[in-house]
Amino acid sequence: MEKNDRRSFLRRSFLGLAATVTAGRLVYAGGKTEHAFPVDKNDTPSLITRRLGKTDMVVPVVSMGVMRADNPALVRAALDKGIRLLDTAHTYQGGRNEEMLGKILKDVPRNSYYLATKVKPDGYDKTKGDFTDDEKVKRTFREKFEISMKRLGIGYVDILFLHAINSRAATLNRAVQEVMQEIKEEGRTRYLGVSTHSHEPEVIRAAVDSGVYDVVLVAYNYRQDHKDEILKALEEAHKAGIGVIVMKTMAGGRPPKSGPALSMGTALKWSLQSEYVATSIPGFTSFDQLEEDIAVARDLTFTEEEKQLIAQAMRGDTLYCDACDECIDQCPHELPIPDLMRAYMYTYGYRETRKARELLDHLGVTPGACASCDECTVTCPKGFAVARKITDITRLREMPQAFLT
Ligand code: SF4
Ligand code: SF4
Repeated sequence: MEKNDRRSFLRRSFLGLAATVTAGRLVYAGGKTEHAFPVDKNDTPSLITRRLGKTDMVVPVVSMGVMRADNPALVRAALDKGIRLLDTAHTYQGGRNEEMLGKILKDVPRNSYYLATKVKPDGYDKTKGDFTDDEKVKRTFREKFEISMKRLGIGYVDILFLHAINSRAATLNRAVQEVMQEIKEEGRTRYLGVSTHSHEPEVIRAAVDSGVYDVVLVAYNYRQDHKDEILKALEEAHKAGIGVIVMKTMAGGRPPKSGPALSMGTALKWSLQSEYVATSIPGFTSFDQLEEDIAVARDLTFTEEEKQLIAQAMRGDTLYCDACDECIDQCPHELPIPDLMRAYMYTYGYRETRKARELLDHLGVTPGACASCDECTVTCPKGFAVARKITDITRLREMPQAFLT
């Protein structure tokens, strides 16, 4: 069994270099997919895999967003099924997510999985859209990273992401890049990345221009109004050798009861149609959902019925907020409306009230936040009745913990 040590890291880096030279050309010439990891115990078809940019990582098109999972058996089952990349973050479940992974992975050979985590330093100035205090950025990034590594109990991660960035300035911030590059030079991450779920094209292009990031992790789904623009930026990233991972592929979770019966697997399949996308990190939380996502990883072909359902769903109601930020300046009380819409989506899309409650507690918005307005001054291009949704969702803060799901 290979241990979680630096020697393992160096060996993989060396082997990876060779793999990049031989296999990288395949991807850039024709965007071909490769098949590997034929690990399914039932001898069913292998998972479709793609190379992650210029990295040495060849991964199944479905990875695991561990964010909402709290069952170690589900993570083990995902690895047994052939999933190779596990994605977590410093903040998920208040750190319990990384701790859970640490306990699981101590018994798993280090060369049989890839692990990504994310850190966001303090010192972000919302009005400037950038980090403004270099000393604070470097210190807090390092502190959070060390805590994450202790929780994970491993010598290195495969990808270290700058977490949840939404501007070019923050992506290119020098202090952030310096501390991340130091960590990479220390051999404690093999690759660097940036993650975003708003203003995606701007962040993707900044990552390309940076010369620092190897991977981007972006929201990409069939419900986004600006999905064509995102795809164009993803093409540029792919051509520059940046690995593309997509998230929020479920576009707000299960469809409304009145909408077409579009499965989460079909939505995931849509996000993987472009071969600029190397892999996805659906946040499955049950064994049934794992099976559904694994089926997608074996066959990305749409059935005729799925094509029709996608077309219908694109025209239907959505819970997915594009995070375009157009509402921010329209609210005199400066409510964090996109985040509140996310909490609403967690509740009515994902049926994850505990996750929504964590977000609401973090935001500190109380029930009745909209009560002082005679009329809401916010107009959302997606047609969201934001005041009604805010009034509805903030009531969750008064619900006893025992009722949360
Ligand atoms: S609520 Fe509407 S306006 Fe505000 S960020 Fe979301 S999509 Fe944009
Ligand atoms: S009703 Fe709520 S969202 Fe609308 S302007 Fe007032 S505080 Fe802002």
